[in-house]
Formats: sequence, C-alpha cells, structure tokens
Amino acid sequence: MIQWRGVIEEYRKFLPVTEATPVVSLNEGHTPLVQAKQLAQIVCPGVDLYLKVEGANPTGSFKDRGMTLAVSKALEKKVRAVMCASTGNTSAAAAAYGAKAGLPVYVLVPANYIALGKLSQAMIHGARVIQIKGNFDQALNIVKELCQEDEFELVNSINPFRLEGQKTAAMEVCDQLGRAPVIHVLPVGNAGNITAYWKGYQEYQAAGQIRDLPQMVGFQAEGAAPIVRGAIVEDPQTVATAIRIGNPASWSLALRAIRESDGNIDMVTDEQILQAYRMIAGEEGVFCEPASAASVAGVRKMNAAGRLPEGSTVVCTLTGHGLKDPETAKNVSPEPQTVQATREEVVAALSI
Ligand SMILES: *Cc1c(COP(=O)(O)O)cnc(C)c1O
Repeated sequence: MIQWRGVIEEYRKFLPVTEATPVVSLNEGHTPLVQAKQLAQIVCPGVDLYLKVEGANPTGSFKDRGMTLAVSKALEKKVRAVMCASTGNTSAAAAAYGAKAGLPVYVLVPANYIALGKLSQAMIHGARVIQIKGNFDQALNIVKELCQEDEFELVNSINPFRLEGQKTAAMEVCDQLGRAPVIHVLPVGNAGNITAYWKGYQEYQAAGQIRDLPQMVGFQAEGAAPIVRGAIVEDPQTVATAIRIGNPASWSLALRAIRESDGNIDMVTDEQILQAYRMIAGEEGVFCEPASAASVAGVRKMNAAGRLPEGSTVVCTLTGHGLKDPETAKNVSPEPQTVQATREEVVAALSI
C-alpha cells in the first residue's frame, strides 16, 4: 500500500458507486484498533478487549465514513446543496466534505447543546449554521421537510449512503483482527451506526471474508434511552451530547440488528459514562468524547452482570475524539496548580 485511499476506494466493491461517481474523500478510515489490556483488567478481566478509535478520522468521528459516500453521491446527483440536523459531528463532517466537494452546506443544530469543537469545525469549513431553540429531534423534522424539495440533499443517517459508508468500519475491524469479534459494543443515538456495522459484518460474511458474526450490543444514555424504554423520550438529557436523542431515526433497523445477531440494547448512567471516559484516557492513552465512552461503560456493566464469556474478543467503538468536547474533560479533571516561576516552587508543587 502506498497510501490509504479512503473508504470508497478501499471498499469499492461493497459500495454503491460506479465509474461515474465523483469520489469526495479525505482519506477517512484505516483507524487504529487498539488492544486495551489495562482497561480490560479493570472493566472486564479475562476478556480480550479492543478499542476501534474512530476519533482518528479526518474530522474526528466515524461520521466521515458515511459522509464521504453521501457527499459523493450528492455531487453525482448534481444537487445544489447538502443539509443536515446534527448533535455536532454530522455537521462537522458535512461541512468538511462539502467544502472539499465545493457544495454549500446548511446545518441545523440545537442551541447550547453542541460541543465547542464540533461547532467550530462547522464554522471554519464554511457551513451555514443555524441554531434552533429546540432539540435534535425537532431539528431533524424541519430538515426532513426542507429536503423534500430536490435541490437539497439530506445527509443525516436516514440517507442510506451514510450507513453504506459507515459499514466499512466493521469490515476494517475484521481485516485488523483476522476475524469478527464475539461481541461488538457501540454507543447508540440515532442507531444508524449499530445498523451499519451489522450490515458490514453480514456482507463480509457473505463475501467469505469472515466465518462467524458478532453479537451487536448497543448502549444508550439513561436520560436518552428511548429504545431501551420502548418509548420516545420528549426531552432527552445526558452529558453525552452526541447521543442526546429521544426518537432515533434508525430505531427499527437497530432492533433488527440486535435480534438477528442475538445481541442486546441497554443503558448506562451519565456517571458511568464519565467514569469510563476518564478510565479510557487514563489507562489506554485514548481520548474519546463522552458519548463514545458509553460503549466501555456498557462493557463494564455487562461484565458485572456476568454476560461476557471468559476469553472472548470484545470490540468497543470509540465514536469520536475527546478534543471535540474539551469542556467536559476540564470539568472531570483536577485544576492545574499555578505557582511562581521558580525551581523551588515547581519542586514543591511536584512534591519530589
Ligand atoms: C453520531 C454519534 C453517535 C451516535 O451514532 P448513531 O449512529 O446516531 O447511533 C455516537 N457517538 C458519536 C461521537 C457520534 O458522533
């Protein structure tokens, strides 16, 4: 391999593209699969735990895998602009891929609930950002209506090309492990990604690339757990803003993935999420955003319930980069100490 060419070129035969598709790529994908031995000792002793570090994508989240395809297909269709509702990462990815494609990007975000890093990404790439005094679910409803007119292409995960692109993450995990894991754990918001992974694993099996399929397990935040509770949550609340969703767009598809894979969906509290968030950073040197840590918090919960077979391989997807949301990192960490600029004071502060 001279250079990784991005998920469309690397997984072209599994994707709905033709010679006529103008490929818009930032060379996304090829993200690290990190073995997490120290973290496993704490959260799931005896389990072979891996982290799929999707924060290593060009805009810092897995959304890039779907956006490369959605924007390429929008360009092929010669739309006038792309549009999305977003809890942050979709708008960051849409803004970047739109800039690369030369397409105008319009994004609707819930005012006050977008992590700073994500908002600044959308702005710097030149997207037109509109904050609504409402939540993600309301933003998505408005965007869906506006995109019924043909010039605007909706690039939320209800756009089927998004999930097609995102399924490449499952294929990469198989390529990296040499097989599928026994259990694959993801945070769940709109439930598109868990659906996409399941599709990816199934297609890789059908292509003879893997023998066995994993169980798909999803975790929602307790204050935003409509699928677990079996009812829409009108006012979802969680520190994990990327999964602060009360009416998931891919609800029924996710339930199917869970059923077909003999998996499960459950929830974790914000406290459990933030504990896992610090542990991942402190034990493994991987900085993810709070929503991502719901997967590891979930593994910990499964382990406590005795639901992880000894010696099994478990992969957690860490969906986004920690730098997206520096505020939360600051809030859960001790304040740095400030001293005079002398050797003595520094030594005293270090207590050595
Ligand atoms: C989008 C996103 C999620 C949720 O993914 P869904 O496909 O909506 O379930 C989780 N974590 C991060 C960081 C995200 O950006």
